[in-house]
Amino acid sequence: MLNRPLDAYTGYDKNNPGFIESVAAYENAILPSCPKCGSYHTAQVTAGIVSRSIHLASATTKFVIRLSPLPGKLYCNDCGYFFTPRGWKGPIWWDDLIKGY
Ligand SMILES: [Zn+2]
Repeated sequence: MLNRPLDAYTGYDKNNPGFIESVAAYENAILPSCPKCGSYHTAQVTAGIVSRSIHLASATTKFVIRLSPLPGKLYCNDCGYFFTPRGWKGPIWWDDLIKGY
């Protein structure tokens, strides 16, 4: 779910090409539901605290930042549960997207 309209990031996207595309990729990603409460309002967790990840986390609820070591690869926005489904790797584009973030 978007936290604010994508227009809000037009300026940031100019200096960080592909940023809005990244937000859209997260928005369209189908993430596993929470094993605890069943919610589909889940997010990918990253430890990378850099400008781009901070902006991503501010743009979409499907991306959250936690300090390493990560309590799980995914996070439930509804009940706050961290989890990692067995064999979970995420969409194929994730590795490229979060590399260095
Ligand atoms: Zn949950």
